[in-house]
Amino acid sequence: MRSTIEAAKRIVVKIGTSSLTHENGKVDLDKMEKLARVLTDLNNSGKEIILVSSGAIGAGMQRIGRNKRPEDLPLRQATAAIGQAILMKMYQKFFDEYNQVIAQILLTKDVMEDSIKKNNAKNTFETLMELGVIPIINENDCISTAQIEGYRFGDNDTLSATVAELVGADLLVLLTDIDGLYTSNPKENSEAVLIQEIDEITPEVKSLAGGAGSRLGTGGMITKILAAEIAKACGTQTVVASGEHIEVLRDIVRGEAIGTWFKA
Ligand code: GLU
Repeated sequence: MRSTIEAAKRIVVKIGTSSLTHENGKVDLDKMEKLARVLTDLNNSGKEIILVSSGAIGAGMQRIGRNKRPEDLPLRQATAAIGQAILMKMYQKFFDEYNQVIAQILLTKDVMEDSIKKNNAKNTFETLMELGVIPIINENDCISTAQIEGYRFGDNDTLSATVAELVGADLLVLLTDIDGLYTSNPKENSEAVLIQEIDEITPEVKSLAGGAGSRLGTGGMITKILAAEIAKACGTQTVVASGEHIEVLRDIVRGEAIGTWFKA
């Protein structure tokens, strides 16, 4: 058992596009519904929950009938704008079923670099936590562009670690399409073994991550390790685990040995 996880009160949960959508890119309603139920239940049990959700671009793509992430930047931003509203409408519907109030916060990287903006964001988070609300965070994809240096997190793994730092989270959970960090790529090597615990994020640990793995998401194992590194630097522990069965989140938070645990 991972006792420091069991004791965690403030928890940031990040779910990637690949865990929220079917193979064909359409939103997986069953998973979203389960996520709303489990997170509400954790919140009811006295934990403070912050959800970082990807899926805006994916949902927007589906809405305008595209099956490929747009290369064209304005089109990608427009797709995110369309999809973010759809995503929140769905979350609203599912969380409403459990009478859980949610809120939306869209962040850009510059917010974290400007002490006034950062403090405003922090105050908003703190107030939402006091009110028992579950904030749902995404990058403000419509105005964060890679073209404007320093304006973009680029992936929600990094964003979720930055949020964990901002709110002083005790635990960051990254739900993805793989069980955790393996000794080598399990898709290519049947001998690959899941690493249960990481004490130090060394160059060897980083070298275990391949490139981006999924259909629609932007990250990959490396962005998860880098996120765990950001989290660790501010005293937050991280678990990287599969988002295939959302209910597993309860066991993770209970401190069961699921996924890879990056110690604080
Ligand atoms: N912000 C993007 C979206 O909601 C996702 C970024 C990521 O996949 O990390 O579509």
